[in-house]
Amino acid sequence: MTTISSVGVVGAGQMGSGIAQVIAAAGVAVRISDVNLQAAQNGLNSIAKRLNSQVEREKITAGEADTLLQHITPVGSLTDLADCDLVIEAASEDITLKLNLFQHLDSVCKAGTILASNTSSISITTIGAATSRPDKVVGMHFFNPVPVMALVEVIRGLATSDSTFDTAKAFTEQLGKSPVACNDKAGFVVNRILVPMLNEACYVLEEGIANVEDIDTAMQLGCAHPMGPLTLADFIGLDTCLAVMEVLHHDLGEDKYRPAPLLRKYVAAGWLGKKAGRGFYDYR
Ligand code: NAD
Repeated sequence: MTTISSVGVVGAGQMGSGIAQVIAAAGVAVRISDVNLQAAQNGLNSIAKRLNSQVEREKITAGEADTLLQHITPVGSLTDLADCDLVIEAASEDITLKLNLFQHLDSVCKAGTILASNTSSISITTIGAATSRPDKVVGMHFFNPVPVMALVEVIRGLATSDSTFDTAKAFTEQLGKSPVACNDKAGFVVNRILVPMLNEACYVLEEGIANVEDIDTAMQLGCAHPMGPLTLADFIGLDTCLAVMEVLHHDLGEDKYRPAPLLRKYVAAGWLGKKAGRGFYDYR
């Protein structure tokens, strides 16, 4: 097993910023990167904003927030992550983008760096094969919001070594999270079950069976779900939901995974959910 004392996070959106936050909270130095330095800085700003609201609600002290923020450094390029022990990629859910990122990370990072992906559905084996170190590639799938959700799916690609898997699992525990071991098949455990349900909620809406609020109320009151499926889809990001359904449909090859046309339409309109200000609900 490798001792992890410095971590890089690629992608400073809702997941990447959350992952950086929990790593910093565990006292580990983390560098965060995105398409450019400003985007990485925006990720840090979103963490600072979340921490400020916790200070205001007296959940943490201003000193604790400052200490945490001091562990996070925004950087402008992947080369700045070269000497990290672990790099966790949390960029957009697009296979071409991820394969390019992993090729690039493989070429710049030191030989011992473990490369992890927070992908919701893309094959860890395929991502590993894009590098010269597939034994050091692993899935670390966090859940949204990362500081709140306890689960991390740790995914073993075909070539992932025991040492890499054990290091990722131990690091997850170091962050105070609960790991579940998964084999590499589209959607892993949670999204294989969850995202088809969200997709089905889109069909229910599209077929006029009930309106947005009633679909959510039905699943909250009828199934004791803490959040209705359309609220949850908005929260995850409709682009991410669609991307996961595309992977399930393509990789598992069954019609039951066909993305709902309404979901496609919302994504085409740029109504990506909460992060875009508009999805099934209006957040503006
Ligand atoms: P997001 O849209 O909030 O953030 C994605 C970030 O990636 C953006 O900041 C974007 O600028 C950045 N990015 C795009 N291209 C890049 C590149 N070439 N290099 C560096 N950064 C780049 O998306 P998100 O919800 O944070 O999702 C990120 C990943 O996490 C996806 O793989 C997604 O499937 C996965 N994930 C999402 C959730 C969720 O609930 N949203 C949960 C678990 C896993």
